Amino acid sequence: MSSILSNRVQKVKPSATMAVTAKANELKAQGIKVVPMGSGEPDFDTPSNIQKAAVDAIRGGQTRYTAVDGTAQLKSAICDKFMRDNELEYSANEVMASCGGKQVFYNLCQAILDEGDEVIIPAPYWVSYPDMAILADATPVIIETDLDQDFKITPKQLESSITEKSKLLVLNSPSNPTGAVYTREEIEELGKVLERHPQVYIISDDIYEHILLGDDDFVNIAMACPKLKDRTIILNGVSKAYAMTGWRIGYAAGPEDIIKAMKKIQGQSTSNPTSIAQAAAVEALNGDQAFIETMVEAFEQRHDFLLESLNAIEGIECPRSSGAFYSFPRVQGLIDRLGLIDDVDFATYCLEKLNIALVPGSAFGAPGYVRFSFATSMDNIKEAVERLANA
Ligand code: GLU
Repeated sequence: MSSILSNRVQKVKPSATMAVTAKANELKAQGIKVVPMGSGEPDFDTPSNIQKAAVDAIRGGQTRYTAVDGTAQLKSAICDKFMRDNELEYSANEVMASCGGKQVFYNLCQAILDEGDEVIIPAPYWVSYPDMAILADATPVIIETDLDQDFKITPKQLESSITEKSKLLVLNSPSNPTGAVYTREEIEELGKVLERHPQVYIISDDIYEHILLGDDDFVNIAMACPKLKDRTIILNGVSKAYAMTGWRIGYAAGPEDIIKAMKKIQGQSTSNPTSIAQAAAVEALNGDQAFIETMVEAFEQRHDFLLESLNAIEGIECPRSSGAFYSFPRVQGLIDRLGLIDDVDFATYCLEKLNIALVPGSAFGAPGYVRFSFATSMDNIKEAVERLANA
């Protein structure tokens, strides 16, 4: 019997991060206390100055359609942010706002990819990159990395993954799920490879830019390799830095023709992101930035505690995260000790038996690993570690 569903939708999987959260919520609805370390979102409230900007926008009548690519105020705040934080100059025609970083990535894939195009994605990768490439009929080409190479690709690996069909390289530093951060020198070395292959564009997913846990400074490829700026599309947003995941405001910066094409896709799908959330994002980007430091300090404490506690459990090897709010340990030893099949089985065991929500490494292209989000209270983290140690 032929299915009503398109071939396209049958080629992709549901988002694993979304699925874990939904499952954890189901258990919670049954009255079970689940420790939420699955989905990655700050557990802080959106700062009150940002909340107020949204309320003012509602009361002030900012409740109608805006320009598809965002209000003039938001686009100007985005340009100012790039100048202030990254010393990158963009004009209003080179930036746009979307419904979350996810829509930026989706728009870009739809705007530049055709069947047969290859998208180079370093693994472990965020769950949605390959599937969004597939939804644009392109082919993901995965570069494998593991804990022993700090989850970072080498110039040699990059060189050997490039073909004449390569169209896009995905870079994400700080990384979801590994917390790895590329240094300026490492990015420069990757840049030298890319300079030799002018057909390859780069998407730099900078969504965790401000969540830095070590001494590394943030740097993206447009900053480190100015020659590549006109082949780079930057993805960023207010979700992670300002605890605004539900508001759905992401933004892009890049060459004008590509931004224009992304705007065309957005104009034929969602139109503008929510007007009220845009007003809130203007305050997030232009207002007091002190909140970020307070939040990152909390993440640092939680990270250090989790790191030490996980490494004290036989069968877990947890590297230090330099950014984002994830720990990504190798748990193969523990999987074997518990007599489980694999990391998916391990995550199911953690959810159903220990009531800890985690995302299995396989969802990120890294079997044998598991992702802990420590964007949750210290009490929750202590509880999770205790349940795991007892098991
Ligand atoms: N980026 C977050 C995560 O990985 C949000 C969930 C999602 O959109 O995938 O958990």
